[in-house]
Amino acid sequence: MKILVTGGAGFIGSHLVDRLMTSGHAVICIDNLYTGRKSNNAQWLDHPNFQFIEHDIINSIAIENIDQIYHLACPASPVHYQSDPIQTAKTNFLGTLHMLELAKQCRARLLLASTSEVYGDPLIHPQTEDYWGNVNCTGIRSCYDEGKRISETLAFDYHRQFGVEIRVARIFNTHGARMLENDGRVVSNFIVQALKGIPLTIYGDGSQTRSFCYVSDLVEGLMRLMNGKYIGPVNLGNPGEYTILQLAQTIQRMIDPTAALVFKPLPQDDPQRRQPDISRAKFHLGWEPTVPLEEGLSKTIAYFRDRLAN
Ligand code: NAD
Ligand code: UDP
Repeated sequence: MKILVTGGAGFIGSHLVDRLMTSGHAVICIDNLYTGRKSNNAQWLDHPNFQFIEHDIINSIAIENIDQIYHLACPASPVHYQSDPIQTAKTNFLGTLHMLELAKQCRARLLLASTSEVYGDPLIHPQTEDYWGNVNCTGIRSCYDEGKRISETLAFDYHRQFGVEIRVARIFNTHGARMLENDGRVVSNFIVQALKGIPLTIYGDGSQTRSFCYVSDLVEGLMRLMNGKYIGPVNLGNPGEYTILQLAQTIQRMIDPTAALVFKPLPQDDPQRRQPDISRAKFHLGWEPTVPLEEGLSKTIAYFRDRLAN
């Protein structure tokens, strides 16, 4: 198949590109390199089945004969999506619109990488896909949260109005190699801080929870969703729930038991609890994560250890 991956030079996108290329598909990667790196696709850049197009999806693009579109392009970490919130909103609205138009023209199937952030600061726990969410539409996270919500709306309206084949994944916190060391996400921050011997920064009192999925599990879920019959939305994440303090203590133990922990103010609208209910993914995709937290963390730690040394 000829498969387009938007955001294919980013963290999750590049692991997906690896899987698709290894499976023998022709892959086109579109990325504006805002948070992505061409080096993430280094092993494929000279491969005849691979094409890299540097392009910002807020502008439309014409490509022919595509069978599938994995639409991942969008900065995912608060530091990056908040540094230019208008661009984030445009990426989610105009970018998704352009990719859905492309899917319509090519009769391609489009998978949207949505997020657990569509649930906002959730009032039900764990989160099921039929929960409509608790999202602030005027806060500092809104460009991303509301952006992803309008992306989902566009996808379902293109499906209902034009018959475009869509798949919608709601991705929960994911970690692994190729995260940026400066992108401010909690797993990368704690690991890089512990490796550098500086204090781990816990925002708030560390009682807020997240559930962390290793990237290989996530990519397997995305591919099953794309190639199955179920449209979604479907939660993809690891249901193991940890407080941020527990995560800090785990990384402290794994890297440097003497590392200090410091407490900093909690950012505005920071969700208090987050854990996916993955019953739908289990039932419709036969999918559930296989990599436990510490096993995944040890791989992510090995990646950053290597990166910081070079
Ligand atoms: P990432 O920042 O590493 O990757 C995003 C990629 O999109 C980057 O390569 C970036 O350069 C590119 N991009 C951004 N704006 C673009 C634009 N306007 N035009 C073209 N390319 C653009 O993030 P990631 O963690 O790999 O996330 C990938 C997708 O998964 C995102 O849509 C994100 O919202 C979603 N997601 C990720 C997580 C997570 O924990 N990593 C959780 C929920 C949802
Ligand atoms: N966080 C933290 N210290 C950090 C970075 C993040 O305590 O150095 C907290 C953050 O406030 C949030 C959680 O960890 O409660 C997850 O943050 P991240 O940015 O990784 O993801 P998101 O908030 O988008 O789920």
